[in-house]
Amino acid sequence: MEKHELQVVIEDLHERYGRLTTGEVATYIPELSKADPERFGIAMVSSSGQLFKTGDCDVPFTIQSVSKPFTFGLAIEAYGAERVSQYVGVEPSGDAFNAIELQHGTNRPFNPMVNSGAITVTALLHAKYGRETFDIILDRTSKAAGRPLVVDEAVYESERRTGHRNRAIAHLLLNFGLVHDEAESAFDVYFRQCAILLTAVDLATMAATLSNMGQHPVTGDPVFDLTSTRAMLAIMFTCGMYDYSGEWAYRVGVPAKSGVSGGVMAVVNRQLGIATYSPRLDTRGNSARGIETCVELASRFGLHAFDCLNVGSSFLTTML
Ligand code: GLU
Repeated sequence: MEKHELQVVIEDLHERYGRLTTGEVATYIPELSKADPERFGIAMVSSSGQLFKTGDCDVPFTIQSVSKPFTFGLAIEAYGAERVSQYVGVEPSGDAFNAIELQHGTNRPFNPMVNSGAITVTALLHAKYGRETFDIILDRTSKAAGRPLVVDEAVYESERRTGHRNRAIAHLLLNFGLVHDEAESAFDVYFRQCAILLTAVDLATMAATLSNMGQHPVTGDPVFDLTSTRAMLAIMFTCGMYDYSGEWAYRVGVPAKSGVSGGVMAVVNRQLGIATYSPRLDTRGNSARGIETCVELASRFGLHAFDCLNVGSSFLTTML
């Protein structure tokens, strides 16, 4: 049987960008430095559940910051957007993801994709769900992936031992009353959520769940409601790719989130979930191969949100 065109294209990208060796594996969480820099996987899942994959797509890695949109979605569902916005904004910060700063005037974190915002969101969930918080996060991310996910205990321990900067952020939040008194327990949940293990196929499936308006692409199970799905996609679009978010929106033009372990998750609304895994990070902290792969996929298939009338995106729609 002839290969599907999307499969041919990802194999070609894998072959070409697999030669790219720029960037460095993250080392500030000691356990992450053990990642094999040569790993490279690309996976795509259509909103109707078709899977395309190549390379190291079944190799587990920790979700890290890619967990942030999902916990934000859970907080929106638990509290409503209005209430959540009293604690965390939706503006790009223009600063590093781990900056120890809050928005001038409001003293809220800029957005839920930087660490201060993500820790605030997890603390909000913890204020509501207490000891069950992590299980709720794990359950929902597992539902989005379509299989039970687990935690990499070594990465969790490693970050818990060394995450002093995040601890400083939590104390700043405590100072402004943005997190409750049990900040330390909430904070522990944040480290655990970052250590959830998954593969590029899982991540592409989670992206496809978002592209499919919150329903799992294969089972059709409702995972997120429409309001939270919209909120997650919007915040990923403006703030998902660290200090490259503006350029990403300009060049690739789809909601996305990346993490320090080398994962990138991108969502083509109503069409496709894309995930790449390659641990070497560029100077902005995004997977170097992941960025190149997504830039080329977007231009080849007209995935950019504002390309919607061009031949490229109609082409993709008819292919899936
Ligand atoms: N656990 C990491 C931290 O909080 C996540 C950072 C990231 O992936 O951007 O520093």
